[in-house]
Amino acid sequence: MQTKLERNYIDGQFVEPVSGNYLDNIEPATGRPYSVVPDSDARDVDLAVAAAEKAFVGWSRKPATERSAILLRIADLIERDLEKLARAESIDTGKPLSLARTLDIPRAASNFRFFATAILHTESEAHITDNVAFNYTLRHPRGIAGLISPWNLPIYLLSWKIAPAIAVGNTAIAKPSELTPMTAFLLCQICGEAGLPDGVLNMVHGTGPNVGAAITAHPKINTISFTGGTATGRKVAEASAPLFKKVSLELGGKNPNIIFADADLDVAVAGSVRSSFANQGQICLCGSRIFVERSIYKGFIKSFIDNTSKLKLGDPLDEKTEQGAIVSQPQLDKVKFYVDLAQKEGGRIALGGKPPPSISERCRDGYFFSPTVIVDLPVSCRTNREEIFGPVVTITPFDSEEEVIGYANDCDYGLASSIWTQNLRRAHRVAEKIHTGTVWVNCWLVRDLRVPFGGMKQSGVGREGGIEALHFFTEAKNVCLAR
Ligand code: NDP
Repeated sequence: MQTKLERNYIDGQFVEPVSGNYLDNIEPATGRPYSVVPDSDARDVDLAVAAAEKAFVGWSRKPATERSAILLRIADLIERDLEKLARAESIDTGKPLSLARTLDIPRAASNFRFFATAILHTESEAHITDNVAFNYTLRHPRGIAGLISPWNLPIYLLSWKIAPAIAVGNTAIAKPSELTPMTAFLLCQICGEAGLPDGVLNMVHGTGPNVGAAITAHPKINTISFTGGTATGRKVAEASAPLFKKVSLELGGKNPNIIFADADLDVAVAGSVRSSFANQGQICLCGSRIFVERSIYKGFIKSFIDNTSKLKLGDPLDEKTEQGAIVSQPQLDKVKFYVDLAQKEGGRIALGGKPPPSISERCRDGYFFSPTVIVDLPVSCRTNREEIFGPVVTITPFDSEEEVIGYANDCDYGLASSIWTQNLRRAHRVAEKIHTGTVWVNCWLVRDLRVPFGGMKQSGVGREGGIEALHFFTEAKNVCLAR
């Protein structure tokens, strides 16, 4: 067994948690602990706040070019360590090594590079009040940012928060999910090597109720960027509201994926298989509700099942694996619960529906589940409304554009959607009427870092990405000069 001792990173030092307690960190592919993670609490958050407060004085006054240079070095070092980080992410999450290598780690480097250069190209607004005054806008870093992220895309999402927060001059206290802390730990080593001043980034590991809640409740952390489930997001909002914190919530999704009869079927099927099962369906943007125009319904299902059946499920560390393990036993139990529920609600399992036969001796006790396709469900049943966050999709036929827009919007979530059609007018029309923060047309997970990102309804509050992130992590001030 490979045992690595992860520690908190506070004031530029790797330190033990005050309690001295650690939690097992389990490798999902084997079901066995392979490292430990600090079981920190409010006392560790207090130490991190003290370090971040001290560091803010110098960091917030550093010229943008100097902050930029350090962030660019972090990006370079992430690329240098790509293989090491990808392997760590794969072991920690159960995701295929090939996915970590091509998506998660390159994106973490891009996040740092993007915001490192973005701060060199910003503009300030000016407003002339006729014959009265001249206004301009100053944007200040807000202070200490609390950054809380989930387990599905650990370094991808945490770096998407850390990079803009510190690029504009804040200091930060980050908390990864205790299920997937490893790349956050390695990132701290990289930040030290890159010359990030002590205390600018502090990493406090531990559980949500202990560390996450202490961050949201701390009076000196005035900005909270949270990505996670909707139920947790509600707790974060409740804790933050009385303290008037600025909060961004990126929450769950139950995303519609709409295939019109005029779509290029091969492209739509390939895109839909990816959007259904990438990262074992554990991406908030996965299209878990597929709607297919009735005239191509049967043909689509056949082709979709044929293509899904070809996905290679296996040991995440095997180079050829396309489907790895589910992150944890509770998450696997949740997937099984919804597959049972779907059948009670009248659904028929067209593919999968159970764990695969044994993969290998190493993975004998791992958390695996076969890609699962469910048909014949009513549109408004629980399986079609609640987020499963696993390798499970439903496929439902529709007869008209109006009907499918109704289906897509009949949901408490509003994160993302995909439309597959070759009719440009229809694409614009439907995109305008769908209530989701992102609408992809003939593609999925194309993520330009400049675009606004976030959800409607219970998928979140606020937008991140590009200028939205720079604005979120700064405080705008109007300076008004009389004429
Ligand atoms: P959770 O909401 O369970 O956890 C998210 C983070 O919040 C974790 O670090 C968790 O800690 C922490 N946390 C838990 N309780 C509290 C609390 N009371 N106060 C503060 N922080 C707390 O989500 P999951 O980790 O299960 O991730 C899956 C969810 O994330 C899905 O719903 C998915 O849709 C959503 N998500 C949304 C995205 C988006 O951009 N909209 C992107 C990716 C995922 P710990 O786990 O260590 O206990």
